[in-house]
Amino acid sequence: MISSGSLGLVEAFPNKIPHKPDYSHPKGTSPWPKYGEKPNANTPEVKAWAKLVDWSKVPKLPIRKVKSPGDAPECPKHDVPKSDCWWTCTGCYAPDDVVDCPGKNAWGLTFDDGPQPGTTESLLALLKEKNVTATFFVTGMKSAKAPWLLQDTLEQGHHLASHTWSHSGLTTLTNEEIVAELKWTEKYIYDHTGYKIKYYRPPYGDVDNRVRAIATQLGFTTVIWSNEWDTQDWQLEENTISSKQIVNIFKNDLQTLPKRKNGVITLEHDGDPKMITMARTLLDMGLAKGMKPMDIAQCLNDPVGYNAVPKKPEPKFESVKKPQEELSSSKNEPPKSSPIPDNADNKATTPPELSESDSNDESVSNDESISNGESISSGESVSSGESISQQSVKKVSGALPSSNAAGLSVALWTLAAVAASLVL
Ligand SMILES: [Zn+2]
Repeated sequence: MISSGSLGLVEAFPNKIPHKPDYSHPKGTSPWPKYGEKPNANTPEVKAWAKLVDWSKVPKLPIRKVKSPGDAPECPKHDVPKSDCWWTCTGCYAPDDVVDCPGKNAWGLTFDDGPQPGTTESLLALLKEKNVTATFFVTGMKSAKAPWLLQDTLEQGHHLASHTWSHSGLTTLTNEEIVAELKWTEKYIYDHTGYKIKYYRPPYGDVDNRVRAIATQLGFTTVIWSNEWDTQDWQLEENTISSKQIVNIFKNDLQTLPKRKNGVITLEHDGDPKMITMARTLLDMGLAKGMKPMDIAQCLNDPVGYNAVPKKPEPKFESVKKPQEELSSSKNEPPKSSPIPDNADNKATTPPELSESDSNDESVSNDESISNGESISSGESVSSGESISQQSVKKVSGALPSSNAAGLSVALWTLAAVAASLVL
């Protein structure tokens, strides 16, 4: 399962994003929303994304109060109308919310709040050792600091999902801010992996029917976790719970398994070494009780798990001779599929001088496309950086290392990624 990916889709990324201890951009140069702040809703990108929503279908619920930005909302003293179906304060699930795994003993294994350099690698090693896959609900802001971990996670067969950009309580945000949180994260992951996220988990489980109506129209499915199966491991970081207490909570949960018709989805995190140690303990406990750990796509019998996946790129330019023969003999051949989604505009496949990786000089070129420019570290191919837009894709055939099959494959894959990014 691990080697080929739980979904049977993932191959090694030919253009690996370099592992850098600090992936931040020089001040003011990043096209991405800032770390630790909710994305600005008043930008051309967000305005364009907001047009994807039929706002007449979004209920006009109150924007919930919050003590400090980024926190979970405060629950009001008065009753919340049932029609709001606000999970955080009333425990209400909507029919479309994913809460449990349907299969008996199926165990939807989920880890939130990463990627986190250091601990995410430890978790990946643990899951590899146990030969199981999991879903990683990553935030956009942390992904932007360690995008290579998105690739590493996929390459090891795991499933990526969204945990919003800034980890704010979504019910505390305006409609446009909700759009921004979801779409920026989707775009970041897509631009760096070619996978278009389908599942998202609202931070703190904070979702109501307003948030759902927006997320659903943008193509996302809400995933929470099974009632009582929050492992509370997030408290380890704050030393507000002991490991023994967590083990006891989980032990009690496991005792309810025989009575359950369906499986469960647990909530864990990968931001602290203590959490990884705990993940091992809980994994062993669950396996000993016959639970079957799996990622959310597997748990739901969703054969794809994404709204778009990489597809094999077709060469579109004259300078390429017999590319398929060259590619097939290359160890660094691109994924069997290219990052162009089914709805991609294939007109935009003139090869730009871009790498797919994040960089210090990437720039937003227009309201729908982000380009970047920096050499990539695959060792075979270097492409120079320059921004593009849908109106100005530059001719770059000369930039392709046509005598180098590996480099060519990287360039092809890169090209597809850029073409795909134009349609997000
Ligand atoms: Zn979280």
